Amino acid sequence: MLQPPHSSLQVASVPAQRAAARDRDQDAPWHTEAVCRRDEAGLFFAPSKEPTAARLSREEAAKRVCARCPVMVECREHALLQPEPYGVWGGLTAAERRVVLARRRRREMELKNARQGRIAAAG
Ligand code: SF4
Repeated sequence: MLQPPHSSLQVASVPAQRAAARDRDQDAPWHTEAVCRRDEAGLFFAPSKEPTAARLSREEAAKRVCARCPVMVECREHALLQPEPYGVWGGLTAAERRVVLARRRRREMELKNARQGRIAAAG
């Protein structure tokens, strides 16, 4: 049985603060619906020194599991908000999550600048 990404064996390699947050998240209702709890092991986190082709293949397989998961949205948001630095969460790799976070930060900055522009124009 697969350890879900939220309780990965790699917990020991993340900072204690993140591990504590992850432990708290074990109680989140969405966690109990995770499809990866009932799937085969090893898809969601890279073993050390994994060749690129193997990583891409493994990540695609993990994403296929995520695609049929009823809590994909909740899982993805969790991984974005923590943020989770490793593994496939909510159908996104760590690199893909960094792109989403960068876009969110840029959008927030644009909205902030637009608000300040409106305030300056009104004043
Ligand atoms: S979306 Fe993927 S990683 Fe998240 S709980 Fe579902 S199967 Fe697991």
